[in-house]
Amino acid sequence: MAFNWCIFSLYTWAVSVFGVFVYFCHLNSYLTHLVCTEHDTLKNVYDYVIVGAGSAGVIMAGRLSESQKDSVLLLEAGIESMSPLFNIPIVTPLLQRTDLDWQYHSEPQTNACFGLENNVSHWPMGKVVGGTSKLNTIVYLRGHARDYNSWAERGNVGWAFENVLPYFKKSENHLGRFKNNVVYHSQSGPIFVNGLSWTTPLVNAFLAAGRILGYSVTDLNGHQQTGFMEAQVNSLHGSRWSPEDSFIKHYPSPTLTVASNSVVEKVLIKDGYEAYGVQYRKFGKKYKVRAKKAVIMSAGVVGTPKILMLSGIGPEKHLRSHGIPVILNLPVGKHLQDHVTTGLDLVLLNRSLPLSLGAVASPVSFFKYFLFGQGPWTFPGCEALAVVHTNLSDGETEPPDLQLMVLPTGISSDGGVHLRKALGISDKLWNEYFSPLYGQHVASLMPVLLHPKSMGEILLRSSNPEEPPLIQPNYLTHPRDVETLYHGIELVKKLLRTKPMQEFGARLNDKPLPGCESFPFDSKKYWECYIRHLTLTSYHPAGTCKMGPKSDFGAVVNSNLMVHNTHRLFVVDASVMPSLPSANINAAVMMIAEKGAEMVQMHWNMLHGKSTRRSLGWKSVVEEYQASRMCLS
Ligand SMILES: Cc1cc2nc3c(=O)[nH]c(=O)nc-3n(C[C@H](O)[C@H](O)[C@H](O)COP(=O)(O)OP(=O)(O)OC[C@H]3O[C@@H](n4cnc5c(N)ncnc54)[C@H](O)[C@@H]3O)c2cc1C
Repeated sequence: MAFNWCIFSLYTWAVSVFGVFVYFCHLNSYLTHLVCTEHDTLKNVYDYVIVGAGSAGVIMAGRLSESQKDSVLLLEAGIESMSPLFNIPIVTPLLQRTDLDWQYHSEPQTNACFGLENNVSHWPMGKVVGGTSKLNTIVYLRGHARDYNSWAERGNVGWAFENVLPYFKKSENHLGRFKNNVVYHSQSGPIFVNGLSWTTPLVNAFLAAGRILGYSVTDLNGHQQTGFMEAQVNSLHGSRWSPEDSFIKHYPSPTLTVASNSVVEKVLIKDGYEAYGVQYRKFGKKYKVRAKKAVIMSAGVVGTPKILMLSGIGPEKHLRSHGIPVILNLPVGKHLQDHVTTGLDLVLLNRSLPLSLGAVASPVSFFKYFLFGQGPWTFPGCEALAVVHTNLSDGETEPPDLQLMVLPTGISSDGGVHLRKALGISDKLWNEYFSPLYGQHVASLMPVLLHPKSMGEILLRSSNPEEPPLIQPNYLTHPRDVETLYHGIELVKKLLRTKPMQEFGARLNDKPLPGCESFPFDSKKYWECYIRHLTLTSYHPAGTCKMGPKSDFGAVVNSNLMVHNTHRLFVVDASVMPSLPSANINAAVMMIAEKGAEMVQMHWNMLHGKSTRRSLGWKSVVEEYQASRMCLS
């Protein structure tokens, strides 16, 4: 008892110290910039200006500058991610609710999120060089071939799976056990993809349970794209690995300039269609910078539509209502989709998994991580997943509609110190449902809705660039979405009944969720109520500047990612997705950036009658890096 209390106090203390540490990183960044007056060293004009140094923006910047012929300015609202502590996988959730997170919130939901404070969904997003790839769970999953074929079928030439596979491979450096499958994997890209360095025994039980139910256990990033899999992650020697590690930290191009703490307010547009630069704010001062070749918006699914609308590109009526002069009437901000999940702490076990606070806080775990890149500190949260068709979708013609994510823990495990606040769990739900689970052995098998029918939007609250936009995801407004998640719960129940899961004593947490007590536990009505109460984002919003031909009235960019009816203005980030892939979306975002960089260059070259070329050359760089790491370890 006393030991548990000590561990809990230590954890509480560590969370607070970490928060203070992040704050000091911020302060340090601020003071450094004041002293260095970095802006004086910036030029007034670059070949390319990229807005937002997230997953996509960093790859765009790296690729556009790698020939060292073009000058590239990468503007980022957040600070540089200077501390190696930020790359420790187990620490990542603590970055939420700090200055490295935009800390967005949705509007109160009317059909969902009833168990969250004010029915509001918390949307963490990276505000740091590296963007959300610095806050994410590093799961690497590409999705199903039919996801991308459907993009092409909607008029997006060049986006079918056979067209995008080379770009998935271009960014990938696969160090895991599937590296020899060269049709699907590559070992020459800048982004490391690896197996997990450490797992709990629950993984094998979950995979065996899947096998018993008739699913294949396979490499979901290979030919067979439905089934069960141990998670593949973006990591190297147990540490997180993101595009920022490759293109900025270790191998920055001499023609790339990264300007942090620079909040872009609007795109500068002349003659009603041509982008020639951006206006940004840095420590209270406003600046303008020009782009000779192109302006690329990579500010993410919230930031990009916000900036475009502030620039006069967006739904005419909405812009006028905020007094913004309209340059182009386009459906910017519409078509918002997100993966929705539920099922935290849903499974109780009769034996402990080695991920307790005690195991994590142990000095052995510390040394294992720093000396060998092993142990629980390398653990990002999700250790296995499944991607399947429920019987609501056609396995022959449609992409899979359900994912399961396996977390060998739950939010009750940290006693309410951080995770419940990050998710915005209401006091009632916490006190009556989660808190009593503290100290018990819990796991989370979380069904994820892969292709939501409900759709939302991003709107401006005002014309003030400093005001966060209004986020309306409209979660679970379409009844089919609840039905799909209900099928997910049914699948979880089937898995729990298998022998491998029974060996852990796995069973449903049968304490009725507050708000759903009036329904008999385990009835369909109970689960529908449960889903509408414990409605969580899976953190994959996309689609707010949808790609599509001009004939598609919902489209903002064409299949070359150029904003319709503009010149030299591109969007390259999660907002261009016409529909969500059947996967966590970061791999797809990186693929879009790899393809986007080639298209932006090709566009310029074609306009100026130059030949186009494909860039190579990362293999040697990566080999050099691997060799240097080997010397260190
Ligand atoms: C908690 C969490 C866990 C996740 N886990 C996974 C996972 O395991 N696997 C997976 O595949 N995906 C995961 N994702 C999703 C994935 O990381 C994101 O979808 C992806 O990183 C989005 O990339 P992006 O380039 O579109 O945007 P971002 O990476 O968000 O980049 C946008 C950048 O633009 C900057 N910016 C915004 N506005 C401005 C402005 N006005 N001026 C200047 N800069 C600006 C931002 O600060 C940010 O750096 C997760 C997301 C979260 C939040």
